[in-house]
Amino acid sequence: EKEELLKLKNQTDETADGKKIGLYANIGNMSDLNNVLFYGAAGIGLLRSEFQYLGRENYPRENELFRAYKQLAETMGDRLTVIRTSDLGADKQASYLDIPEETNPIMGNRGIRLCLDRKRMFKAQLRAIYRASAYGNLAIMYPMVSSEAEMDEIEEIIGEVKEGLKEKEIPFRDIQTSIMIETPAAVMISRELAKRVDFLSIGTNDLTQYTLAMDRQNPLLKNKYDDHHPAILRMIRMVVEAAHAEGKKAGICGEIAADTELTETFLRMGVDFLSVVPACILPVRKALRDTDLSVGEALETERSI
Ligand code: PEP
Ligand code: MG
Repeated sequence: EKEELLKLKNQTDETADGKKIGLYANIGNMSDLNNVLFYGAAGIGLLRSEFQYLGRENYPRENELFRAYKQLAETMGDRLTVIRTSDLGADKQASYLDIPEETNPIMGNRGIRLCLDRKRMFKAQLRAIYRASAYGNLAIMYPMVSSEAEMDEIEEIIGEVKEGLKEKEIPFRDIQTSIMIETPAAVMISRELAKRVDFLSIGTNDLTQYTLAMDRQNPLLKNKYDDHHPAILRMIRMVVEAAHAEGKKAGICGEIAADTELTETFLRMGVDFLSVVPACILPVRKALRDTDLSVGEALETERSI
């Protein structure tokens, strides 16, 4: 069976009836790149950029970030690489971040909130991404967004970053931007958020914990933590419809994207892309190539959502 799957390494990502789907990889460090190339992913749908920030004593410098992003861009060539800006705080702590102790860190100063609170850190990363954009096909993605006010702030900072690069005559491209939909608030305002960026990517890992109000890391809740909850599936549908209404694409980058039992459901909802760990690229490719959207009705499970 493994051999059968390996035959799919160089196959395209389209359904049996010919609908093209973006199948991307989630990676958390540079060494995962080999597997992304080996399995023939369309690109990187989620680079968890935290690896350059954790387990050290000081903020990483812009040049260090830049070198890694440039290498990524050059290695991936035309294939899209979506760099998520640092999603620090909560369980991802570093002493230099100096985050005061919080009673509820999961609901605390994390993700984009921390970035907007540490503007020098945020700007260094954005500058590094824009500088590297000249070497390949990069995109930016913002984690944990929950309001339009955050997008206002981000847009202002991006404007400053681009101005700064222009002044110094450093080349960059006007790359695509995207928002992770991983708070219930972001789902409810997904139409407004879709207007602000080029695509939306649903982070079902966090979205599940915030929607069910269940800590995704609490072992006592392991049996109750259900990322197939109808609330989550309905939210995915809402986000896809909101994005499409604005003429934008929407996909999923949480773990659920790799669940082949749901591939057909996602495709019938109109999901444009899936981003999964490299080891799941081939099984998901098989599932979507086996799906024929031209026959049959919506699945029973899908209709009931
Ligand atoms: C998510 O929350 O679904 C996600 C993809 O991001 P992370 O798992 O890194 O929080
Ligand atoms: Mg998340």
